Amino acid sequence: MVTPSEVKKASKKLENQNIKFRAFLKNRADIDELDAHFLKLHNELFVPYDCGQCRNCCKEYNTSLGDDEIAAISQFLGQTKDDFINNYLRLNPMDGGYETKEKPCCFLTGGGQCRIQECRPNSCRDFPYTNQPERLFSLLGILGHAEVCPVVFEILERLKKIYHFRNRTY
Ligand code: SF4
Ligand code: SF4
Repeated sequence: MVTPSEVKKASKKLENQNIKFRAFLKNRADIDELDAHFLKLHNELFVPYDCGQCRNCCKEYNTSLGDDEIAAISQFLGQTKDDFINNYLRLNPMDGGYETKEKPCCFLTGGGQCRIQECRPNSCRDFPYTNQPERLFSLLGILGHAEVCPVVFEILERLKKIYHFRNRTY
């Protein structure tokens, strides 16, 4: 599997091919069958993978937090909600919600651990969403995640084999 430090470069090299593969899936893939392939590959590849050696997602994305999550994490850290918001969050102009303001995430330790692991936001738990239904409608996001996450990159490469995809114009 591609390493965390190489995944962006490797994915950029395949950018055009991946765009064609997305169009190929959009035109030809059955939604349930594609979900079944995603789920199988997600489980197969993530179980043995040590995310602690990667943490690219914690370095590359701002994490969204809902009100309940802000309350739970501020309590976990022993801070008031207002202090927690002032210290760590900013408003996302796109949706008006809160997100972490720093990249890499302020809760990522030098050793690759999450300081709020027990109560980390759902968007952290669920990333990269490759085990969720209706992936056919989220392929653009998945192509973006393949630039960050070595497992998503590998899932895409294996899907190309499963679907006998060749890099040509369909
Ligand atoms: S909260 Fe934890 S899991 Fe989520 S991005 Fe920050 S360090 Fe990573
Ligand atoms: S989910 Fe992907 S990007 Fe995040 S730490 Fe695991 S392998 Fe890396």
